[in-house]
Amino acid sequence: MIKMDQITKKFGDLIVLRDINLQVEQGKVIVVIGPSGSGKTTLLRCLNLLEQPESGAVTIDQQTIDFSKKVTKKEVSSFRKQSGMVFQTYNLFPHFTALENVMEGPVTVQKVKKTEAKKNASQLLSDVGLKEKLNVYPYQLSGGQQQRVGIARAMAINPKVMLFDEPTSALDPELVGEVLLVMKDLAEEGRTMVVVTHEMKFAKEVADEVIFMDEGKIVERGAPIDIFENPKEERTKRFLSLIS
Ligand code: ATP
Repeated sequence: MIKMDQITKKFGDLIVLRDINLQVEQGKVIVVIGPSGSGKTTLLRCLNLLEQPESGAVTIDQQTIDFSKKVTKKEVSSFRKQSGMVFQTYNLFPHFTALENVMEGPVTVQKVKKTEAKKNASQLLSDVGLKEKLNVYPYQLSGGQQQRVGIARAMAINPKVMLFDEPTSALDPELVGEVLLVMKDLAEEGRTMVVVTHEMKFAKEVADEVIFMDEGKIVERGAPIDIFENPKEERTKRFLSLIS
């Protein structure tokens, strides 16, 4: 379960998230849409504490971080282990093989034994369709394959929730489908996921709920069919008319 309570985030004088309240039940997939600069990435980054909000609280599963109090490094690092983040630009270690990239988190952060981490990483890479690519380096992989390694790597720490920040927007169009398919598989396994994406077809097919953000606020949220076919807010209607 994910919960954000009255989250406000500023960069200098710029208020990027305004009093965000959000709850995602276990096993649900939430897709976040909205115009550029509306705060979608910042919302995800506040969920795994890559950014710290000025006020409010975030909860994942049993752990809550209350930003009205001083947050220690130890709290941040233990909270971060609860989520796996997939970035737009993969962020793989170029000098590590696919297998080593996936093993890195468990071995260095969780102190899992190498043999065990290797077995788990091989299975995860096989799950994302990369059984034949365990020992190759990122530069030897297509963008779609690199992103699938990125997903396996995020999964390797066995996170409670998966966060995806525009995972397909850096890919050539013909490689988008293979990544979305892996994400769809994860959703069908019952993973709790928050996905920022411009892939409206994915949102329609996979999301339990779609959130439309603008200017740091959640303007509207609902089932995909309601948001896409019957949006209530003028701002949502305008955004959807521009992208369709
Ligand atoms: P996009 O769809 O273009 O990725 P977004 O909805 O994800 O946009 P954010 O990346 O969350 O939007 O950015 C929201 C606002 O915060 C923007 O105005 C952006 O310029 C600003 N911003 C984001 N990160 C920082 C930062 N580290 N320092 C200063 N301003 C920032």
